[in-house]
Amino acid sequence: MLQGKTALITGASRGIGKGLAEVFAKNGCNIAFTYASSVEKAMAFEKELADTYGIKAKGYQSNAADFKASDDLANAVIADFGKVDILINNAGITRDTLMLRMTEEQWDEVIDTNLKSAFNLTKAFLKHFLGNRAGSIINMTSIVGITGNAGQANYAASKAGMIGFTKSVAKEIGSRGIRCNAVAPGFIETEMTEALNADVKKAWVDTIPLKRGGTPEDVANACLFLASDLSTYVTGQTLNVCGGMVM
Ligand code: NAP
Repeated sequence: MLQGKTALITGASRGIGKGLAEVFAKNGCNIAFTYASSVEKAMAFEKELADTYGIKAKGYQSNAADFKASDDLANAVIADFGKVDILINNAGITRDTLMLRMTEEQWDEVIDTNLKSAFNLTKAFLKHFLGNRAGSIINMTSIVGITGNAGQANYAASKAGMIGFTKSVAKEIGSRGIRCNAVAPGFIETEMTEALNADVKKAWVDTIPLKRGGTPEDVANACLFLASDLSTYVTGQTLNVCGGMVM
């Protein structure tokens, strides 16, 4: 479904981003991906993607929260791959705590990594997409950005911000053939959610109509739809991938 296309996926050394890279590569897409610190994992993954799927794959250590680094990254990826068709702003972190205890640093770190990063990368690739009069941008938000969650004021604010950002960008650049959508995963089994204790996990799963946590592949399949030509009339939307937790 993505034969001959190239995607840049931020934060693909593990978790949802890794699942995305695998599903996209399986569908013929060349993969540029980033990571923060997992150098060895990323190098092994780069080789695995190329060997398994016969596509071009390259990992870049790049801090998505850094404006200049994001611009440098876009230039490097475009030089290495020739063109980019799909941008997935997936990199994200949590620094969960109640508001009473939340520090300014915890607030800033989450907003910069989760929300400012989407601005940084979208801005960095915009001229390229405008020149091609094509592009699909997918922002990884969260159902928590829709519902809010105690202990996650920083995270929920960053994810709600991404939804407003997605709709605004979609309105600005739709006339140039560029689409921008958001995907809102619910409870997905990755290292991010592994940190939660068993009781908290069970409480989450009990609230899910499909009675299971999601997998990175579940999220990747929704992104595959939004990245591919199956969704050429879909922009500015938020697609919840949450087993029906939020309707
Ligand atoms: P994860 O397993 O913790 O993986 C996070 C990825 O982001 C890693 O590849 C990490 O690289 C990278 N990363 C972190 N900070 C970065 C930075 N400053 N610059 C570049 N890359 C950075 O997380 P996940 O569960 O896959 O989540 C992926 C996205 O889905 C996040 O935006 C998250 O908010 C969202 N989401 C997750 C869930 C869930 O249940 N898991 C639910 C809703 C939304 P290193 O390996 O180098 O650290």
